[in-house]
Amino acid sequence: MARPSGMPGRDCPRCPRLVEFRKSWRKREPQWFNAPVDSFGPADARLLIVGLAPGLRGANRTGRPFTGDYAGELLYGTLKELGFARGAYRADPDDDLMLIDCRITNAVRCVPPENKPTPQEIATCRNFLADTVKEMTGLRAVIALGRIAHDSFVAAIGARRSEFAFGHGKTHAIGVLTLFDSYHCSRYNTSTGVLTAQMFRDVFAQVRRHLDAAK
Ligand code: SF4
Repeated sequence: MARPSGMPGRDCPRCPRLVEFRKSWRKREPQWFNAPVDSFGPADARLLIVGLAPGLRGANRTGRPFTGDYAGELLYGTLKELGFARGAYRADPDDDLMLIDCRITNAVRCVPPENKPTPQEIATCRNFLADTVKEMTGLRAVIALGRIAHDSFVAAIGARRSEFAFGHGKTHAIGVLTLFDSYHCSRYNTSTGVLTAQMFRDVFAQVRRHLDAAK
């Protein structure tokens, strides 16, 4: 079966440093997923959430975005609360969690060492982000989790980054799309108080109202 256009192959060779990292973890943890992580959720969704990259012991281990680490607990709990997901989230791709009118992807599809992709890796993987956006013909709202996701999304749709600066809680009208910014829901951001669960929820509630008003 042909691979969807927004999805790199399991052995995508484009970022040499990430390929080496991937190979080393395939040796260390052969049961883990250890490959580019595909988007999760229906392509006809109106909402796309853009994260940074798979977490080493989260999506890189399980193969589903935000699944298996702390960031997923907060993200999926918030999505369920606002009606963008249903079912039980059990930190396992085989749970019965379903996304509703919502899709999740990452700016960089392979796990980077220390969660830090280089500017070149972000730019290289942007083609896949652009393809993912293109295939979502009903897309109306995007939530960027963090500045890197924000900047890469803006560049992926051909908008000027200088006109759309990242800021938590900010919204940006770009053509038919509205881009909503949030700090990333990482354990680091929540444990340091940069992001609280309520701040995160407020962004998603704003998106809920936006999409409901557009019905
Ligand atoms: S980060 Fe993206 S472009 Fe780079 S190797 Fe992985 S899938 Fe390929």
